[in-house]
Amino acid sequence: MSENWKSRTKLVHGGTRRSQYNEVSESIFLTQGFVYDTAEQAEARFVEIGEDEFIYARYGNPTVAMFENRIAMLEGAEDAFATASGMAAVSGALTSLLKAGDHIVSAKALFGSCLYIVESILARYGVEVSFVDGTDLDQWRAAVRSDTKAVFFESMSNPTLEVIDVAAVAEIAHAVGATVVVDNVFSTPVFSDAIAQGADLVIYSATKHIDGQGRALGGVILGSKELIRGTVEPYMKHTGGAMSPFTAWVMLKGLETIDLRVKAQAESALKIAKHFEGHAALERTIYPGLDSHAQNALVQTQLGGNGGTVLSLDLKGGKEVAFKFCNALTIPVISNNLGDAKSIATHPATTTHQRLSDEQKDDLGITPGLVRFSVGLEDVDDLIADLTQALEAAQR
Ligand SMILES: *Cc1c(COP(=O)(O)O)cnc(C)c1O
Repeated sequence: MSENWKSRTKLVHGGTRRSQYNEVSESIFLTQGFVYDTAEQAEARFVEIGEDEFIYARYGNPTVAMFENRIAMLEGAEDAFATASGMAAVSGALTSLLKAGDHIVSAKALFGSCLYIVESILARYGVEVSFVDGTDLDQWRAAVRSDTKAVFFESMSNPTLEVIDVAAVAEIAHAVGATVVVDNVFSTPVFSDAIAQGADLVIYSATKHIDGQGRALGGVILGSKELIRGTVEPYMKHTGGAMSPFTAWVMLKGLETIDLRVKAQAESALKIAKHFEGHAALERTIYPGLDSHAQNALVQTQLGGNGGTVLSLDLKGGKEVAFKFCNALTIPVISNNLGDAKSIATHPATTTHQRLSDEQKDDLGITPGLVRFSVGLEDVDDLIADLTQALEAAQR
């Protein structure tokens, strides 16, 4: 196993643990527990768990460990803890770090469930939260304080696809000793280099690009050995948000192809965004890879010029036209996942972001005409033709 391997090699071979049968494909160790040779061995293992030792699947499991090692290699993180879902990762990362009386600064453009954790749950336990426009570095500078314990943001926001400067926010946060927690789903583990850019904890919902085929819920928290084993793991293993071995196997297989899939999806997304930019039926075409995107310069430096696999189309005519458009699509499905092999259309204002107030939606640019479009693996020309006919149908 080599740290010098390039990404694709890491994604196929990283973290592999073979049983005594020397199987080619990763095994699913569908077991909750592990047998000890002696009572003394059990005692010793409860004192300290070694690198390749396990005691209970809520703490760790060989299939889950393979997934954790493989994604950590890709991300360039020392360690990782796999979780039952993306939200188990977000809540686990924040709750394991924070205690009553702490202050955190969060970007206000957050996925509905992330907002609920930061705004409602953390507040209930006495954590003070300041919200900022994540793209405005002056607001971060003004909001951090000597008692700021953590900062939290989605590096590319859902669904308006604003890109936040990980390195710059990390510098501001580290100056006051705050831990930088980044929800990195939209940036994808293929394009992101968030750990190298200064993030302390990076979170993925593995449900999205890592599975990439809409089968299973999962998540992962990545960071230094000290943060993952010292802070995150004690909280996660005792509160029960562990990933199941079967899910870990699905995610391991997803990682084998993620580089190919995400690059193909991003290439199609760029082609679609360029095709529809300026279309008469659209108020805005939002895609970070477009030159016209407000943070396109940052996309070049932070994400190697890759704008991701999602674009948002803001249709003229509001909700009625947006619904007609979604209903007229024949290839993409109406759903709320993203990063899937199947293209997916989502109307955020009435689904993923429904619980936000009208003011919050206005403030974040989640307009009634906005449709989030997750680009799948279908032929891009078929997608462009289908979107074209659906835009026309929506005008009738
Ligand atoms: C989907 C998503 C989550 C939650 O992940 P689940 O696997 O659905 O729990 C968190 N943050 C972002 C940005 C997401 O897109």
